[in-house]
Amino acid sequence: MLQITRFDDVTQLRFTTWKSRLSGMRVSAFVVRGVLVDNGFPAAAPDLERWLDAHPITGAAITHYHEDHSGGVAVLARRGIPTWMPEATRAKLANPAPILFYRRFSWGTPVAVASVNSFVLPAGLETIPTPGHSADHHVLWDADTRTVFGGDLFVGVKVRIAHATEDARATASSLRRIIALQPRRFFDAHRGLLEDPLRLLTAKADWIEATVARMERLIVDGLDDATIARLVLGVDRIGRWYTSGDYTMENWVAGVRRGVSSARV
Ligand SMILES: [Zn+2]
Repeated sequence: MLQITRFDDVTQLRFTTWKSRLSGMRVSAFVVRGVLVDNGFPAAAPDLERWLDAHPITGAAITHYHEDHSGGVAVLARRGIPTWMPEATRAKLANPAPILFYRRFSWGTPVAVASVNSFVLPAGLETIPTPGHSADHHVLWDADTRTVFGGDLFVGVKVRIAHATEDARATASSLRRIIALQPRRFFDAHRGLLEDPLRLLTAKADWIEATVARMERLIVDGLDDATIARLVLGVDRIGRWYTSGDYTMENWVAGVRRGVSSARV
């Protein structure tokens, strides 16, 4: 199902299927200045295809390689729609890593896409590296309207479970980089348009920095990841069970531990 909402110059395409709704999952792509930012998940590709039949676009951009943001890339490639993405994203999409069952169930299975025409973004739109959630993560910035298309940079203020590849310190730096731009609007891929983005982005950066600092002290004290996760973040039984251990609080701590120099431990 595709739900369309307009915000002046921006169109939100909100993709769900019955399977994603059953899992409480949905994701949005956005159109600005004729550019499609992200493109939904693999199982939503028929909805994307029907929308593209009626709405020509000049090009596309992808915030990061995760299958709920890049699942329509095969459709874009087949239609010859030029698409901006960093080399790291291109490499991931050409050779997608296997994903666990819960992600295949909610989103569908990504197909390898070897070749996509490259795209130069129109004047006024720029991409900004915002690693942390994933190493290849970028946001799109429209300086004229002070608007951020944020991919998964935000998602929520206190996200207490993490994937093994996440880097909380990098996320905090990326948030500070975007806060410094003083955005007026922020479109989040899962939450849609954020009310009061500066307050929310700042609250998230503050919380991550305070959480990293607490964890660093406990790491130096010699505590293990499971103990630190329980003390600082709480209990993650449901998230851990639902994602088969893909997203956990211990991953959050392990990401912080990677950044603590051995000299300090
Ligand atoms: Zn993501």
